[in-house]
Amino acid sequence: MNNITLQDLINLLEEYNPEEIGFVKKAYEYAEDLHSGQFRQSGEPYISHPLNVAYILAELHADRDTVCAGLLHDTLEDTEISKEDIAHDFNQDIANLVAGVTKLAKMNFSSKQEQNYANTRKIITGITEDVRIIIIKLADRLHNMRTLQFKSRFKQEENALETMEIFVPLAYYIGAYRIKSELEDLSLQYLRPDMYEKIKEKKLRVEEDSADCLKEMLSTIRNFLSDRRIPNEIKVRTKNIYGIYKRLNEGHKISDIHDLLSIKIMVDEIDNCYRTLGIIHSIYHPVNGKFKDYICNPKTNMYQSLHTTVFGPEDRLVQTQIRTFEMDKIASFGLTAYWDAEKGNARVVMQQDLKDKFQFFNSLLEMDAMFGDNQEFVRQVKSELFADKIYAYTTKGEILELPKGSTPIDFAYQLSTDIGNTMVGAFVNDEVVPIDYTLQNKDRVRIITDDLSFGSRDDWESKAHTSLAKRKIREFNRI
Ligand code: MN
Repeated sequence: MNNITLQDLINLLEEYNPEEIGFVKKAYEYAEDLHSGQFRQSGEPYISHPLNVAYILAELHADRDTVCAGLLHDTLEDTEISKEDIAHDFNQDIANLVAGVTKLAKMNFSSKQEQNYANTRKIITGITEDVRIIIIKLADRLHNMRTLQFKSRFKQEENALETMEIFVPLAYYIGAYRIKSELEDLSLQYLRPDMYEKIKEKKLRVEEDSADCLKEMLSTIRNFLSDRRIPNEIKVRTKNIYGIYKRLNEGHKISDIHDLLSIKIMVDEIDNCYRTLGIIHSIYHPVNGKFKDYICNPKTNMYQSLHTTVFGPEDRLVQTQIRTFEMDKIASFGLTAYWDAEKGNARVVMQQDLKDKFQFFNSLLEMDAMFGDNQEFVRQVKSELFADKIYAYTTKGEILELPKGSTPIDFAYQLSTDIGNTMVGAFVNDEVVPIDYTLQNKDRVRIITDDLSFGSRDDWESKAHTSLAKRKIREFNRI
């Protein structure tokens, strides 16, 4: 939406947090006053930026203090006011959030100076303090990317690159898919304008082309579900442009991207997800090997859904995604879905859940403890956390997510320290592999252990890829 006004923000708050409208209004007037006389490069009064940031946060149903911090997020940096003033005029919580965002403001991820590595480290580890700081930063970046056309060509590329390298992975890790997809598309638009336009064009054609087929499927499925009294909502979902770009880059043809358009079916409970799957397979022939159960095997950012690709009308291949309403909320908003579900308690639950359920969080703490040097820390985060992932199976059929480049050593330590320390070899897909074999997607891995083994050897550290494995090996060899 363009030209957001205070009234738009108020209308949004009216939907989920009407009792806080007065307080938020006060923050708006306060920020407007402080920024008066300042303008953005677009020529608009500066307040339009914090207002948009607050609006993006309110779309996520952020709590009152987060929305206010969004309105005030640039005041410490650009105006005369102090953190103490904000604490006095609002509250300590808002003051801390604004200060947290400001601390991260001057970072420049693409430059190679030590100062920047230090700042990048701050932004990444900021998530451990209060994840809301990162969410405000993501909203800030999203609005800056939406208005990037007013910047110089150099700034556009620099910002787009930085967005891809750091903000997209962070959005992925907290499960904020909507923000992630939009950031990806905006970045691609500046990094590869030619490709962006071309794919957009092609995507449009596929959409037009499949419109009838999807419409028919939608109504057929709807009827079947209603007959069986399964409460449902069905939508068509399209892959974002960057997602298509990535697949084309891997050598796929556009006609081979079966999830370019998919049908998203939401039902009331888990049992009904599997019933729906059965119904879908009884109407449309499934494609073998294209079924994924992310309900039993959630992604590490808590994404849950059933995916199956079927032969639709006119022999078109169509991916369907089946999940509960609850899961859909997590799929779109990730951790930020708690703002809605938990109301006043959201902050505590979010921080706790990060620790308990989001695997990347502990990897991050691991790296933070392990690397004193900022440059090494940033390099490790990029190669281990922000890089592509592979998914490998345990013998029990569980799925482990590991960074690309991982070896059976990493796999073993991910399972447990004991398994890592007593490992003597590994089978992958029933064949013996060297210990530094590079694991591939869908590999089935069996770690061979022997309680009498001498434990990890000295040269294992260099053969491991993850910080976790490297640290465990180091610890073991020190004893
Ligand atoms: Mn800003």
